[in-house]
Amino acid sequence: MHHFDYKDGELCAEDVSLTRLAEEVGTPYYVYSHETLTRHFRVFSEAFASVRHLICFAMKSNSNLAILRLFGAMGGGLDIVSGGELFRAAKAGMPYERIVFAGVGKSDEEIAYALEKGVLLFNVESEEELVNIGAVASRVGRQARVAIRVNPDVDPQTHPYITTGLKKSKFGIDINRAREQYRTAASLEGVEPSGVHCHIGSQITSSSPFADSVEIVARLVGELRGDGHDIRYLNLGGGLGITYHDEAPPLPSDYAAAILPKLKDLGCTLIFEPGRVITGNAGILVTRVLYGKENPEKRFVIIDAGMNDLIRPSLYQAFQDVWPVEEAARERPRHVTDLVGPVCESGDYLAKDRDLPEFYRDDLVAVMSSGAYGFTMASNYNSRPRPPEILVRGEEYHIIRERETYDDLVRGEHIPAFIEERRIP
Ligand SMILES: *Cc1c(COP(=O)(O)O)cnc(C)c1O
Repeated sequence: MHHFDYKDGELCAEDVSLTRLAEEVGTPYYVYSHETLTRHFRVFSEAFASVRHLICFAMKSNSNLAILRLFGAMGGGLDIVSGGELFRAAKAGMPYERIVFAGVGKSDEEIAYALEKGVLLFNVESEEELVNIGAVASRVGRQARVAIRVNPDVDPQTHPYITTGLKKSKFGIDINRAREQYRTAASLEGVEPSGVHCHIGSQITSSSPFADSVEIVARLVGELRGDGHDIRYLNLGGGLGITYHDEAPPLPSDYAAAILPKLKDLGCTLIFEPGRVITGNAGILVTRVLYGKENPEKRFVIIDAGMNDLIRPSLYQAFQDVWPVEEAARERPRHVTDLVGPVCESGDYLAKDRDLPEFYRDDLVAVMSSGAYGFTMASNYNSRPRPPEILVRGEEYHIIRERETYDDLVRGEHIPAFIEERRIP
């Protein structure tokens, strides 16, 4: 659910006209709905009200400081995957003891930085990393609380690029080797095995893979306690899917109902790392039509946003709905169309072979469900400045990230003197 609706013939973010926003901030732009963000966070949290829990929002899905701060104010924490994300978390004022640090390739500098700040838990992805975290912790004189990420080998039935919990995945440790790994962890001076982590994939649209994996990891928690480990945290990762098209994913309350009965007696603090389900449908990308074009076999609409602004369609063949900002445009004749960007790549499209109404030059087009893995995956490819991010609340809007400038594009670049000295003939 979200708060992007037609009002008086025009698509609005809450009570702000997207046409007016386009006039005031230019296009393309990302716009988020405050009401949708807070509602999604609240609904997720309420689903687990009956148990001790911490919602560590997966900030790789949307890392704008304003949004991180908002979730912090609502009692949430963060799931981070890099030193840069830890820095952002700090800038947003997030308490370090609400941060979990995931990722297969943490560098020594990142580990030391996280230890110095005192993050809640490291999600550990390999034996070598575990041993290294112990070494870094001993060197800096800290204790690292760790949760080993285990692979329950459950197929989440989602896109292969976002499937992470299988035996063949680069993520996590085979669950059959978990007890031995915890024994290693306990033997390391700087390491305190305190939790178990599991994240099986993303955009999962049924409860059963979650229920299956929870059953497996809950059993493991029992065994680890039997082995003498003080397992206080069970981190169940993220991955709950959203409706991009016609998917009908479980509601957070359905998800909770599917897993809580298997967890109630464990007495662990439950940690969740939702990303997409919180922000995905809380943001859209608004872009303007530049040109139309027909080749013998294809009809194209060329817009001013491309794969550098929103890469999901190109990267995962992801479907994102496309709505005209002007409501009446929905009644125009429809054609099978590719909605493509200005980037010099054939893979640069936001919608492919899609049944769309005719669009004309200067029309505004909304690419829905862009609030997660949208701006955070944007790049400067083709030297295109990244778009601004706008947060709407009722009738107000706030620019929470400015549009990049051409100067931003060349910041930090230098021409060495021996090249600069050469005359341009
Ligand atoms: C990406 C990721 C998440 C968030 O996934 P969503 O599908 O956006 O909920 C959570 N945990 C880990 C470890 C991740 O890599």
